[in-house]
Amino acid sequence: MISRSLPTGKLLAQRHGGKFSNLNCSICNTCQETYEHLWNCPLNKENIDCVIEFAVWDTNEQLFINSSDIDNTVISLLKPVDIPNFLPDLVRGIAISPFVEAIRTTLNDAVGFNKYIHLLRNNLKNYFRKNIWLPRCKDQIKLEKRHGISKRYKREQFVASSLPNKEEKLAKHKSICGLATLWFESLIGNYYNYDWIKCDPSSDHDRHRLQPTG
Ligand SMILES: [Zn+2]
Repeated sequence: MISRSLPTGKLLAQRHGGKFSNLNCSICNTCQETYEHLWNCPLNKENIDCVIEFAVWDTNEQLFINSSDIDNTVISLLKPVDIPNFLPDLVRGIAISPFVEAIRTTLNDAVGFNKYIHLLRNNLKNYFRKNIWLPRCKDQIKLEKRHGISKRYKREQFVASSLPNKEEKLAKHKSICGLATLWFESLIGNYYNYDWIKCDPSSDHDRHRLQPTG
């Protein structure tokens, strides 16, 4: 999984402690860098918009979908307002059911959801890597240098490994469960006809509304 393999600031701090504990996001320098933050870093905003657009255009081209309406609808579905975890989780493999339904309706059976989302996720991942992660790595090297972190320091400085924090796991689970409701509410207010979303977003979203795909 992309999110677990990326040595973000948070992961480096957990692994090495010491000087890494004080590092902030190398792009905005306002908070600790996490995988989710990289998708939501205020200074990445325009780049993330490009990641979304390029990924959708590529996906539709690869599947011979020639419709700018579909392009634009999928692009707007990928930009729900105020749901910072939506994209990072989608790329991780978590798609919430109203999103699945929205994509199905948009595609109108031109291509199956699983095939579509598999390709879209790969394209998002590739553009994220190229446009966000690789430039970030250059900035991170400079940042580490400024903080006196050498390759040797990185090789030798480790904190005793601890088991995954139970509270952290619970918090993540809670935030994933809240996603469906948030996504639904964010779109229903400012998007056109969502009558076909029949389910009630406020109930039972723990089990039924999360659909791991791919
Ligand atoms: Zn940032």
